[in-house]
Amino acid sequence: MVDDLTTRIKQLALDAGADLVGVAPIARFDNAPFEVHPRSVFGATRSVIALACRMVRGALKTIEEGNYWQAYNCDSYQYLNEVLAPHMLRKVVVWLEDHGYTSVPFHNPFGAHLGRAVRPDGPSPDAMLSLRVIGCAAGLGELGHSKLFMTPQFGPRQRVYAVLTDAELEPTPLLTEPVCDECGRCVEACPAGAIDPERNVEVLIGDRVFRHAPLDCESCVVVHQGWDPRYSPFLKEDSSRENPPPYFQFLQRRFRHQSICGARGCVRACMDHLETTGRIRKQYRTPMIEGEQWVIEDA
Ligand code: SF4
Ligand code: SF4
Repeated sequence: MVDDLTTRIKQLALDAGADLVGVAPIARFDNAPFEVHPRSVFGATRSVIALACRMVRGALKTIEEGNYWQAYNCDSYQYLNEVLAPHMLRKVVVWLEDHGYTSVPFHNPFGAHLGRAVRPDGPSPDAMLSLRVIGCAAGLGELGHSKLFMTPQFGPRQRVYAVLTDAELEPTPLLTEPVCDECGRCVEACPAGAIDPERNVEVLIGDRVFRHAPLDCESCVVVHQGWDPRYSPFLKEDSSRENPPPYFQFLQRRFRHQSICGARGCVRACMDHLETTGRIRKQYRTPMIEGEQWVIEDA
């Protein structure tokens, strides 16, 4: 019965557009702090279903070539977060609901919006969950050195979403074979120097310890959003936060996101390493990185 239900949900999620689906029993979150525990979002949660969707490789490749940024901003941010994820999460949730299970779609949370706890011992709404941790807990992958969620199928290039449900489902075993081999390419290629060389942050999920490097998010966001002229072809001489270049305004208006770094180190260099060393399952005709990665020398 549990097996059958799990098989049907997984197939439904795959048919709705997910690339990978796994299940974490609630016990795998026993070590999670209260404020990031799935039951802080939905108190009756028994299983957490993780759904992973790939970011298309070509959208990263055209930034690697220095030619085209819109595909990445559209596909890997707006489309995945705002179109595909709500669609597939709703499909799974409605199906579960039709079978008597209350289920909650957990989208990509756009920042914390904490209000006051409505009960003395309750969580502060909106409670936050780590989708990377959920991906690990559901057996789909692990945390890379870069802190990104990594799978044997796609390395670091996917996004994870979740359904919290009171259905009891068949757990997916935790991944035991590491994907990340500590090569250090993400550290070297990150323009912001945001990824610490030491991998010493530990997260206990189920009975496995996952490790990643501390990430300097403030340094990352400056480069990620295109404010370092060496890695941003769109800045004008008079550009500033108060006067952003027209292309940034276009990206924000059209895709509600502005990724200019294009994850040069944490995704592109990592992908290149994993693909060329055969550490992920799929191989591609055109390498992710050909020659030196570009830098605007006279910026
Ligand atoms: S680039 Fe190397 S060290 Fe960094 S996350 Fe990828 S495999 Fe791990
Ligand atoms: S998004 Fe860019 S700046 Fe941020 S960690 Fe990745 S490579 Fe570094």
